[in-house]
Amino acid sequence: MADPSAPSHDFDLAYAEEDMGQVPGLFGRAPSSDGHGIVVTGECPRCHGRTATEYRHGAPGMGTKGLRSWLAGRQPAPDLARDGELLARETQFCECGHPHANLPQDAPFTGCGASWLIGEPAQGGAA
Ligand SMILES: [Zn+2]
Ligand SMILES: [Zn+2]
Repeated sequence: MADPSAPSHDFDLAYAEEDMGQVPGLFGRAPSSDGHGIVVTGECPRCHGRTATEYRHGAPGMGTKGLRSWLAGRQPAPDLARDGELLARETQFCECGHPHANLPQDAPFTGCGASWLIGEPAQGGAA
């Protein structure tokens, strides 16, 4: 599964809150394992670590990291097309899980500090 041409996770990169802008086409979206949310997975554009963020459809008492109110109560099952449009406007944060150097104690996510927008879902052949 590893692509030898892809850059590998840069563990030596120091934490920095850096806005990487829009990074289209690198991110996959899939229903979460319990069917109540969407998991966005991909590679951090800064440290190249694998990152996955789960967005849950709102349900009382199910507060988790990644909970986003915009999914709250709209519909019982994920709608990847519709949610994809919403996700396109949602800022993603690196959650590669590697405690990069200088990671603040209060950092919301364990990663390199990068944030980005995933943009619209990739349409076949779109640049
Ligand atoms: Zn990162
Ligand atoms: Zn990383």
